[in-house]
Amino acid sequence: MRPLEEARAEVLTSAGLLDVEEVPIWEAKGRVLAGDITAPENVPPWANSAMDGFAVLGADVAGPGTVLDVIGDLPAGSTTDSVVGPGQAIKIMTGAPIPPGADTVVRVEDTRVDGSRVTVTTAVETGTSVRPAGGDVALGDVVFTAGTRLTPMHVGVLATIGVGHPLVYRRPRVAFMSTGDELTPPESAVLAPGAIRDSNRPMLLSLLEDTGVDTVDLGIVPDDTAALREALDEGSKADVVVSTGGVSMGDYDVTKLVLQGDARVDFWQLAIQPAKPFAFGHIGDALFFGLPGNPVSVLVSFEQFARPALLKMQGARAILRPQIVARAGEDFDTDPAKTVFVRVLVDGLDEGVPSVVKSGGQASNVLSAAAAADGFALVPRGTAKVGKGEEVTVEMFKWPESREWTDGR
Ligand code: AMP
Ligand code: MG
Repeated sequence: MRPLEEARAEVLTSAGLLDVEEVPIWEAKGRVLAGDITAPENVPPWANSAMDGFAVLGADVAGPGTVLDVIGDLPAGSTTDSVVGPGQAIKIMTGAPIPPGADTVVRVEDTRVDGSRVTVTTAVETGTSVRPAGGDVALGDVVFTAGTRLTPMHVGVLATIGVGHPLVYRRPRVAFMSTGDELTPPESAVLAPGAIRDSNRPMLLSLLEDTGVDTVDLGIVPDDTAALREALDEGSKADVVVSTGGVSMGDYDVTKLVLQGDARVDFWQLAIQPAKPFAFGHIGDALFFGLPGNPVSVLVSFEQFARPALLKMQGARAILRPQIVARAGEDFDTDPAKTVFVRVLVDGLDEGVPSVVKSGGQASNVLSAAAAADGFALVPRGTAKVGKGEEVTVEMFKWPESREWTDGR
């Protein structure tokens, strides 16, 4: 059996970088930067006011009770050539450029206005409520480095500095299919005897979408060598082909029947639980992932191999899920020969350390327990026992909203 790390290294070595392209900022979320981003200007571009108030000279307001002449008005979006001199002030709104001469803003709450004069009621330190030019991002700063996968906040910063068409890696095209004579579309209201609904394909589509790829749905492929060959050929026009089912030891494991003699596809027995049978290689120019049939095995093998590979192809530096150290809230199954992926949920804190318990049944067909899970507790090969209270590494695949809104009660 092939250890997890060894198999993943082989998969990731095969996952080559895609081409780059420019995308409109509106479509940049989830894309990976192909080059460093250097700030072409300061943010903010000029010193501006952090408050609604009065732009003044700090020296004038070192003590309370100063009375100043108001010589102008500066809403956001406007500028002035008027110079603020000693004894003078310009009314200013948040975001407006600090006028020449001024170095301090007194917020409106600390003033009393009387006609064209303003009294500053407190002492205000020089520089107060002034946002300096470049205080957020300085001209020439490397703002983000190549390999950064853009979040909504990255997109906002790019917009701020005027990068309207960032250079990013192309999205991989991924063709995917379910195989199995027993499968019927998920929309089927009634199940024929022996049939089950195809849960892998909708799940796979969602998993793929989360990795920022373009998808081609090849549908349900029956356990028929000609039909599968045709589907694989069609899929090989994409960058990546993903199938589920038919890679283990059964008589009708047609993926295996079709590809077994193919020198470019390997059939592995992985030292992991679940998802032991797994196929990997190339079909034409496309990378091929032959995931097992059981839905939890699909999830585990997609997460461990396909997802990091797809992120790597897109140039991402960080391609592996976050891991936390947690405490087992109960005994976990082990298999000394395999890495066991226990589907767990965080059920609270144990002396400040997250405590995790099984999210349900651990058989590879029990997808409901994976839906209830926050992550995989990784029980490494060679582990004889994980008892309640012991430390475990948990790979978080879901970090969703977890606090319910209680309507203020
Ligand atoms: P296989 O490896 O093809 O023998 O599939 C292993 C198990 O997973 C069998 O019980 C299949 O019925 C089940 N299975 C395979 N494909 C799917 C699918 N797309 N959706 C739900 N279950 C599946
Ligand atoms: Mg099958």
